[in-house]
Order: sequence, then structure tokens, then C-alpha cells
Amino acid sequence: MRFDFIVIGGGIVGLSAAAALSARGKTLLLERESQPCQHSSGRSAAIFVHSYGNEVVQALTAISARVFAAADHEMLGRKRGILVVARKGGDPGGPVPGRERISAEAAAALMPLLRPEMLSHAWLETDARDIDVHAMHMAYARTLKANAGTLLTDFDVRSAEWQGGLWHVSNGAQSMSAPVVINAAGAWAETVGALFGAAPKGIQPLRRSAALIDPPADSNLEDWPMVVDVEESVYFKPEAGKLMVSPADRTPSPPCDSWAEDMDIAIAIDRYQSLTGEEVRRVTHTWAGLRSFVDDESPLIGADAAVPGLFWLAALGGYGVQTAPAAGAIMAALASGTALPEGVTPELLRALDPARIT
Ligand SMILES: Cc1cc2nc3c(=O)[nH]c(=O)nc-3n(C[C@H](O)[C@H](O)[C@H](O)COP(=O)(O)OP(=O)(O)OC[C@H]3O[C@@H](n4cnc5c(N)ncnc54)[C@H](O)[C@@H]3O)c2cc1C
Repeated sequence: MRFDFIVIGGGIVGLSAAAALSARGKTLLLERESQPCQHSSGRSAAIFVHSYGNEVVQALTAISARVFAAADHEMLGRKRGILVVARKGGDPGGPVPGRERISAEAAAALMPLLRPEMLSHAWLETDARDIDVHAMHMAYARTLKANAGTLLTDFDVRSAEWQGGLWHVSNGAQSMSAPVVINAAGAWAETVGALFGAAPKGIQPLRRSAALIDPPADSNLEDWPMVVDVEESVYFKPEAGKLMVSPADRTPSPPCDSWAEDMDIAIAIDRYQSLTGEEVRRVTHTWAGLRSFVDDESPLIGADAAVPGLFWLAALGGYGVQTAPAAGAIMAALASGTALPEGVTPELLRALDPARIT
């Protein structure tokens, strides 16, 4: 089974890269689970925020915005907006391009659950949008199929051997070969890199938890913006007729099928209640996912400095859904030696280069 490119990891980032690569050569996407997007990519808040993350992440987000805009399917959903609220006596936050300072009363008019007496003011970013992660997943899978690419699920990559100018990756029963392999294994990227003999990059998965709660009766919640406090200690947003609430936790975790601890959910509910004055009567669902970072909180996108044919597409942090279109397109260009997407500067490539970590 010989391919031009093998992508390991069928999260949204691996799917994006595999779709882009499939236009450039015979591509195989390997996923351990029985379906793609079972881990971080299926557990996100699915929001697109231009100002989120550091400058490198914001540059990727800007490139993604162009790809989303050019796509002929609706991957970006409604314009939801985000309210960044400052508590009285707390961190006031500072001006950020694209954010407008509004009064506590104006914030409460947009999001009626907020208690204006708790707030000093808020920052409003109107062009934050919902992302339809399922539509992204389907669009990438369709492109892969249309370009005669292959998605193999239930394929757990356990070993890798470099022989005759090819990587031979195996699950113990079957072996697949290609000269170029993309490591898009999310929280497991360090483990997968080690199979290829790569030096560790210091990728740290951090758990983030969430709960769905019933909104107050007769709420017109679909029109509400997402709310986060300036300290990023709690956020909530409408989610399919419920409210998603998160304590914005960042708890170090080994790579695993993550789940929410009761204490983190209790903290989320307590912070939500104190901002809104609403009593939470019922939590209908809880979950957690892993957001993986390296020290500088910029993604790893590019060739390994020492291992031939190995590329990293990892450490997408809390921004991997909104940056997946850009990350996949950049990865495909680097791995195939073709033209980079518009807007990719040499500075951006240096900031993404895995070789920056020694
Ligand atoms: C609660 C929460 C809220 C978030 N909100 C947002 C948001 O609003 N906007 C945003 O942009 N981002 C958000 N994120 C971050 C985003 O979810 C991640 O950055 C993104 O999903 C990372 O995608 P990935 O493809 O790298 O990883 P994953 O989706 O985890 O995919 C990695 C895949 O690799 C597979 N794999 C691992 N090892 C192997 C192996 N040996 N062989 C085969 N397959 C393997 C795994 O099974 C997995 O499917 C959020 C995350 C969480 C947890």
C-alpha cells in the first residue's frame, strides 16, 4: 500500500490537511477511532473569533477567514458576536482591534441574563461566528474522496520504520508506506512523533470542561452572543437550544479520552450563577476535551528538523477548529513543495516552524 502522503490523525486539522494534500498526490488519512473527530475536534465550543490567541494564531485565523469565505458550503454559521465582560473591581481588559467598549447596561441589553450591577463594562466583538464543525468534517471528507484519497478508521499507528526512502507505518497487522508523513495526532502528537524517532517538542495537553444547562424558560437564546469574562475564567454560549457553560479550565492531562471532573463543572456553574444571578436547576450533559500547547502557544506546522519526511501539524491549542483551513493548506503546500496560501509570510512560517523548539 504505497501513497505519496500519509496523515496520522483524523481530527479536523488532519482532515483539512488530507483534503488539501489529496489534490497534490495519493493521500491516506489514518484514524485510530471508528469515526473522525471523536476527540478535541468533536468537543469544542465551535466559535470563530478573530482576536483569539497570540499574533501567530490571529494570522492563521485571518487566512482561514478567506478560505471559509471562498468555500462553496456553509462552514461558518451565524454571526453570534462575543461579549467580553469586565466585573466591577476586576481586570478592565484593554482595547483590542475589532472590539468596541460598551456599557454594562448595553451588554445586558444584548445578553439579558447578565446582571449590569456586577459589571463595570464590556467589550463587544460583533463578527465572532459559529462554526459548523460537522459541515467542515463532511466537506473535507468529500474532497478527499473526490480526489481518490483514502480514509482508514480503526487504524492505530503503533510503529514506523524508515526504509528505502519510505516510511512504513503499521498498526501491527497492516503496513502503509509513503515518503512523507504528517503527524496530526492532536494530544498524542508527541507519542506519534516518538515512533518516528523525533525529539520531543514539549506538547502539553490541557483539559477543558463544559456542561449543557437548561436556559431560563421562554428565552430567545439563539440571538444571544457568547459571553466570556476578561479573565477567561468562565464562558457561556447558546448551543442547540441549551447553554454551554465552561470554567475555561487549563488542567494538564496525559493524552487520553478526556472527561469532565464534577468539581470543574461545579466551578463553571458557580461562576455562571454569579455573573447572571440565574439558578442552574439542571445540567443535561458534561464533557471535556484536550487543548494541546507548546510553550509559546503557537502551533507546530512544518518539517521536523532531523527526521526525514516527517511533518508536524500539532499544538493547535484552543484554536484548532478556526485555524484548520489555514493550517491544512499551509501543511499541504510545505509537504508537497507547492505554492503557499495567500497571506503566508516568511515571518509566519518561522513562527510555526517546529525547528524553533530545540
Ligand atoms: C472545550 C473545548 C472548546 C474549544 N473551543 C474551540 C473553539 O471555539 N474554536 C476553536 O477553533 N477551537 C476550539 N477548541 C480547540 C480545538 O477543539 C482543537 O484545537 C482542535 O480540535 C484540534 O484538532 P486536532 O485535529 O489537532 O486534534 P483531534 O481532534 O484530537 O484529532 C487528533 C486525532 O488523532 C488520532 N490519533 C492519535 N493518535 C493516533 C494514532 N497513533 N494512530 C491513528 N490516529 C491517532 C486521535 O484519535 C484523534 O482523532 C476547543 C477545545 C475544547 C476541548
